[in-house]
Amino acid sequence: MRVGIGYDVHPLIEGRRLYLGGIEIPGNKGLLGHSDGDALIHAICDAILGAISEGDTGVHFPDNDESIKGMRSEKILSYVRELVRNKGFVLMNIDAVVVTEEPKIHPYRKTMIETISKILHVEPTRVSIKGKTTEGLGFTGRKEGIAVYAVALLEEKQEQG
Ligand code: MG
Repeated sequence: MRVGIGYDVHPLIEGRRLYLGGIEIPGNKGLLGHSDGDALIHAICDAILGAISEGDTGVHFPDNDESIKGMRSEKILSYVRELVRNKGFVLMNIDAVVVTEEPKIHPYRKTMIETISKILHVEPTRVSIKGKTTEGLGFTGRKEGIAVYAVALLEEKQEQG
């Protein structure tokens, strides 16, 4: 078994679409980033990449690469899924904590889990997403940004024979 941890933060700014957990959430603020700013998918990717000793998302998708500007993060997650498969690993489960005052995660949890598990080709029960506030404290409390923690557990497939 291999475990990996991921962490990501993106600023929330006015006039940008909000993509989080592979879905678009209505509102007047969105996450700023070189890609679509989906901090939840980025943290999950970093957790998986950490478990298979493949660095982090920035190693595979450098933020000075113009070709990935504005790219939806689902593409990064699909790339990571293929890397896992090619290296002979199987994803056991993911657990993620989205630290945010706004938007609240609960109404979108189920759709996020369905979206992410579909991209990863795993059962939805293997993906867990939880929302958490900081009771108004810090940058997340001031609604200036969203932080995400994620862990991933993977199993290395045994060689046949
Ligand atoms: Mg990021």
